[in-house]
Amino acid sequence: MNPIQNADLHCHSTVSDGTLAPEDLAQHASANGVELWALTDHDEIGGQHRAAAAAKAHGMRYLTGTEISVTFIGQTVHIVGLGFDADNQALKDGLRQTRGGRKERAMEMSDGLAKVGIKGAFEGALKFVGNPDLISRTHFARFLVESGICRETNEVFRKYLTEGKPGFVVHRWASLRDAVSWITGAGGMAIIAHPARYKFTPNEEFALFTEFKALGGQGVEVVTGSHTVAEYAIYADTAREFGLAASRGSDFHSLNESHTGLGTLPFLPANLTPVWELLASRIQ
Ligand code: AMP
Ligand code: MN
Ligand code: MN
Ligand code: MN
Repeated sequence: MNPIQNADLHCHSTVSDGTLAPEDLAQHASANGVELWALTDHDEIGGQHRAAAAAKAHGMRYLTGTEISVTFIGQTVHIVGLGFDADNQALKDGLRQTRGGRKERAMEMSDGLAKVGIKGAFEGALKFVGNPDLISRTHFARFLVESGICRETNEVFRKYLTEGKPGFVVHRWASLRDAVSWITGAGGMAIIAHPARYKFTPNEEFALFTEFKALGGQGVEVVTGSHTVAEYAIYADTAREFGLAASRGSDFHSLNESHTGLGTLPFLPANLTPVWELLASRIQ
């Protein structure tokens, strides 16, 4: 069999902040030629059985997935988990704990927005939520676009939902140690998501990769919808430097908002170990 090239191992469904159901994502992935797929909802694995069944129905191979929110030296970092046992109790408990507090955070975000004249944002965001346990900034962004306050979600993040802006609330997520151990303890691989998105100094970034590796993390996203072409090369070098396997994923959320469709990014650069090579025994 030819080696897998079109793997898309990062996307979101209505179980977190995507707008498509797992079955519709599978259809979209398959239509775009994806050979190996993973659904990676934020802090949630409630869609895994549906996604795996839909992948099978379309003749795609599947890896279980999630994207865990972590706080590391004061910043939010996302850790993707792949190939774990979706029925593992410690992983399920850890994710439930990480989701906890999202509702209170959302109410505080709404209070912040009310202070600059945007009323009813909590209720407004809830209309876009598919999973009441997982209200995210993305749902607020959709509400502000629907209300005509901003033209697109990117603008909402820039003006209202990022650090220092009226709708931003500082939140403490899981520790790096816990997130990596929940994933590896369930038989999966931990992967640093979209590293170019973080605003770390070079020393802080080095600390992130060093600590991640020491905790048992094994992969880093190199080709992702959140990186530029130049950043593919930078993080390909980082993967080689730290002896990490490389992942590829669109981070697709919605047909309207995502510029990158499932399975449409360039393949991984040469001389890297794809994460799916190390996860061969976990592929369904
Ligand atoms: P939360 O977990 O509630 O903090 O929401 C994080 C989510 O917001 C990310 O997973 C993205 O889907 C989305 N997001 C973050 N920054 C941006 C941005 N600049 N433009 C559009 N979406 C963003
Ligand atoms: Mn998201
Ligand atoms: Mn992310
Ligand atoms: Mn994501």
